[in-house]
Amino acid sequence: MVNFPSQPIIIITAPSGAGKTSITHYLLKKYPTLSFSISAATRNARTGEINGRDYYFISVADFQQKIKEQAFIEWEMVYEGKYYGTLKTELERIWNENKVPVLDIDVKGAIHVQQQFPNSSLSLFIQPPSVEELKNRLNARGTETPESLQTRIDKANYEISFSKHFNKVIVNEVLETACAEAENTIANFLGWNN
Ligand code: 5GP
Repeated sequence: MVNFPSQPIIIITAPSGAGKTSITHYLLKKYPTLSFSISAATRNARTGEINGRDYYFISVADFQQKIKEQAFIEWEMVYEGKYYGTLKTELERIWNENKVPVLDIDVKGAIHVQQQFPNSSLSLFIQPPSVEELKNRLNARGTETPESLQTRIDKANYEISFSKHFNKVIVNEVLETACAEAENTIANFLGWNN
């Protein structure tokens, strides 16, 4: 348990390829009050990714040291040998700017954050219209090998079974509609509609 003051947190989770990153980008661009929570990760940076903007890319040894120091709100080995985690200092950085952190994290991580902040977090689960559609999207992204594609699909099937744990499930059939739904849910949560 972390002894943080209860400030709002928005969690966006989904099986990979369900479109959560597009929805997150849309929200961040439109609302300057929302701020992307930059995770620490041990995977290699992809082309175009920047350290300190997309992730804090760190070594496995550094990540394990931070686990020991209890520096994370949550962390997961999302893929074999690859650690991802939300740093306490990252949430503090964003709250100190009077902004609301937006966490784009995997399903297990999302459940852990919710458990720690049951009253101050809003969790959105972005669901692909079907696993077949998810497969098409991942293929179109072109970042997967056949093995990593299969791993992601297996994981997606498993993760979809957790959707009921989240505050709001948004089926991403048409991106614009899903963005609008996310926006409305966040506006209600943060009291923007009052
Ligand atoms: P990618 O390697 O494609 O950037 O991300 C893989 C998965 O890890 C995505 O589902 C992403 O949301 C998730 N992820 C990114 N950062 C974190 C984090 O800090 N904690 C957890 N639990 N998952 C994360």
